[in-house]
Amino acid sequence: MKTAWENIVGQNEPKRRLLRLLTADRLPHALLFTGPQGIGKCRTAEALAGALLCMNPANGHPCGDCPSCRALARDIHPDFFRVEPEASGKGARSIRIEPMRALMAALSRPPETAPRQVVILDDADRMNEAAANSFLKTLEEPPGAVVFILVTSARAALLDTIVSRCLEIPFAPLIDAELYEILRRHEVSKEAQRDLAALAEGSAGRALALHAGGALERRAEVLRLLPRIPELSPLELLAEGKRLGELSREEAGDWLRFLRLALRDLLALYSGVLPSGGTAHGLAALAERFLEAQVFQMLAAATEAERRLYGSNVNIRLLMEALLLRLQGPVEG
Ligand SMILES: [Zn+2]
Repeated sequence: MKTAWENIVGQNEPKRRLLRLLTADRLPHALLFTGPQGIGKCRTAEALAGALLCMNPANGHPCGDCPSCRALARDIHPDFFRVEPEASGKGARSIRIEPMRALMAALSRPPETAPRQVVILDDADRMNEAAANSFLKTLEEPPGAVVFILVTSARAALLDTIVSRCLEIPFAPLIDAELYEILRRHEVSKEAQRDLAALAEGSAGRALALHAGGALERRAEVLRLLPRIPELSPLELLAEGKRLGELSREEAGDWLRFLRLALRDLLALYSGVLPSGGTAHGLAALAERFLEAQVFQMLAAATEAERRLYGSNVNIRLLMEALLLRLQGPVEG
């Protein structure tokens, strides 16, 4: 593990605040990093851990050269712990009591190399009840020199009694320029950077996942199908429904989301706002094909289909067929 402060894109406010606390030696023993997924909370926690474990830090920055820094870089630091949810059987991934007990046992010993022990509790909201209660006891009577960094994108799912014992550091979604920078570092083309950022709602994690999942191709497909919808024959419509019916629920979810976003951008175009991303040109052509009232109707149908997709026992093919029919349908009064 080797994340330096300098390598974290954006999040200037949390970084400034943490560095201020570090240099003033006023960092509390429990911190809670909150905010949406994929915006740099974990990387910031890692950078902070590096600074806390270093034997010769300067102004909140680790030296990179002491035995402690070297052990951390090789992922073999005896005073650094990371606890995260694990899958078990069919249940949702969770943090159970066993790893928590092992952690508490390790923390009862003094640090081996570093000036203190550091624990990152990733997805801390996934602690099951036993684990959370056991952790709460530790927070109430913290062992010696240890700093806990809790990370969550679901703050409301954490026990209030845990939240109230931590200093909360909120993280905000990334701005477009920051997303571009992160995507550029992953060798994503300029054009794709803009399109992914427009879909990612400020989350670099989301943007990278969309990129890996071929989301832009799927969105291009949605944009190709949209103008053809009014002219589809009943047979063609069934064929499209069959094809879309073969998507997994997740893929269908992306498809519906892209449809909704395209329709939303179309509506923005009618009111003179040019949407971001590289598809503005294609949308302008679409805007000439549909009436504004029609697009409203289509947006309602897409939103409804998206909602139904996550209901139980949904048949994706029937759902898509019904949607295509509604998209094709005449404007209702
Ligand atoms: Zn060091």
